[in-house]
Amino acid sequence: MKIKDHNFIFKLTFSYVFIILISFGFIAFFLDKKLEENALKDIKASLVNQAYLIETQISAENLIKENTIFLDSLVKILSKKINCRITVLNSRGKVLADSEKSLDEIPNMENHADRPEINTASSGLIGEEIHYSRTLSIDMMYVALPIKDKGEVIGVLRLALPLSDLKEMLTVIRKAIFFSLFFALGLAFVLGSMLTKAIIKPINKMIYVSRKFSQGDFSHKIFIDSKDELGELATTLNKMAQNMEDKIGEIEVKNQHLVAILESMVEGIIVVDKTSRIVSINFTVEKIFNISKKNLEGKIFLEAIRNNDILDIINVVLKKGEFTSCELTLMWPVQKIFQINASPIFEKGIVNGCLLVIHDMTEIRKLETMRRDFVANVSHELKTPLTSIKGFTETLLEGALDDKENNMHFLKIIQSHTERLNKLVDDLLSLSHLESKEIQLKKQEFDLKEQVEQVIVNFKAQLEKKGMDIKNELSRGIVINADKDRIEGVFTNLLDNAIKFSKDKGVIKIYGQEENGKIKIIVEDSGIGIPEKDISRIFERFYRVDKARSRELGGTGLGLSIVKHIVELHGGNVGVESVEGFGSKFWFTLPKQ
Ligand code: ADP
Repeated sequence: MKIKDHNFIFKLTFSYVFIILISFGFIAFFLDKKLEENALKDIKASLVNQAYLIETQISAENLIKENTIFLDSLVKILSKKINCRITVLNSRGKVLADSEKSLDEIPNMENHADRPEINTASSGLIGEEIHYSRTLSIDMMYVALPIKDKGEVIGVLRLALPLSDLKEMLTVIRKAIFFSLFFALGLAFVLGSMLTKAIIKPINKMIYVSRKFSQGDFSHKIFIDSKDELGELATTLNKMAQNMEDKIGEIEVKNQHLVAILESMVEGIIVVDKTSRIVSINFTVEKIFNISKKNLEGKIFLEAIRNNDILDIINVVLKKGEFTSCELTLMWPVQKIFQINASPIFEKGIVNGCLLVIHDMTEIRKLETMRRDFVANVSHELKTPLTSIKGFTETLLEGALDDKENNMHFLKIIQSHTERLNKLVDDLLSLSHLESKEIQLKKQEFDLKEQVEQVIVNFKAQLEKKGMDIKNELSRGIVINADKDRIEGVFTNLLDNAIKFSKDKGVIKIYGQEENGKIKIIVEDSGIGIPEKDISRIFERFYRVDKARSRELGGTGLGLSIVKHIVELHGGNVGVESVEGFGSKFWFTLPKQ
């Protein structure tokens, strides 16, 4: 048993003992007092009655004549019978006879007139007194009866009874009370301890299990059989624990859902408290800022994420308690554009933190720029041939139609620009088709070398014109599963460029190799090559190293972009290696299946 239990037992037992002590005290006090009073009253009444009886034996004559011999023998006989001291006195207090004294001693006895009971009796009333008898060394009750003759007090009859019997009786009663008190105290102590222990045991059980509850361990249950208040308390605690366990379970599930939502969000989420310390961040934030969630929670914002602009937003929100939104360009760890929405978190009406939602706007902004550039490029590309067509048509209409020397030339220029426009529109349409999500590849198995042969046939005239040599070094039997027409488009574009951007008598080689389960096809030319600074952008729409030359050669600047899209739709990659002035190697990969 622990000290606390002792304390409880002591308190309870002490209460019992205290109650018993107080009750016994009151009972003893009033009982003792009443008993003594009643006993004294009874003794007095009995003495008075006896005095009246004795008085009848004393004649006025014997008394007036002070017949001491008669009186002495009378008091001695009666005293023995009623067992109390009898004294007869004259009205002036002189003792005439005393049952306790011999006749010889009487004259030597002092006058009793000054004794209070004698005094009272002398005045005609019944005197009573309790005082200590020096003769007998004991408390005595004295009752003095006036003896009257013709209405006058002629003497006093005094009866005295020792109160030793009464005292003895009171002592016995007091002892009984005292022993009962001891017995009751002992009983109270033993029963108190037993009862307290009986109460403490289930309470201790409850304390132990409640502690477990407070530590979040709800596997324990309180088993108390009794149907009393403790049993009810135990049942209530068990129910409460069950409810809490259910509630905590619900909260945990909700929390897990919330964590799953936060972690799967593409937006970065940061929660800080009112002192700008990180409360939580999600996976996207880890990615954006190249940080790890571990040991980050509880850190000051700037310690975790070194960005003063975001901190400024947090401070504004914490100070004003208002939603704030802005766009920021982050320079580190990578250059990115973010839209930051910051909302205050309130607790009991006071700003207690800030929630930041970070949207990565880099792609959107890039797309917007690309769209703007694209529109500008298309407009520009369309404008050049349209201006020429318009100009030459006007020239012809204004009279040049009759100019036999030039009219055909003008019409040919109009035709070439119309063709260019047509090609441009065709390329734009196929590019837009390739970029649309609905595109479906019509895959089939075919031999790569054979297909390249067919494409080469289409360029025969151009090759001969430039005196160029072309070598199809692809091995026979390389069969791929792809959209044949579109792959033909890829070869057409690459061979067209290889011929266009090669000097006369140049050589083109087409060969392939297997790499990581893919077929890599290389179209190598000995042409003008591409400056290093342009290589990374060569596959962009409308990007050309030399715009004027490309246009002159009938190019639209969309060919390589179309190639890239077709290859990527097949799950492959494109690339180029080139040295300016020495030639280029355009390559692309295709999965075999
Ligand atoms: P176009 O050929 O219509 O101009 P492309 O998208 O096919 O457009 O090519 C883009 C640019 O890439 C060309 O304008 C040219 O500057 C460069 N280029 C493409 N192929 C070659 C090559 N084989 N040799 C050198 N430059 C090339």
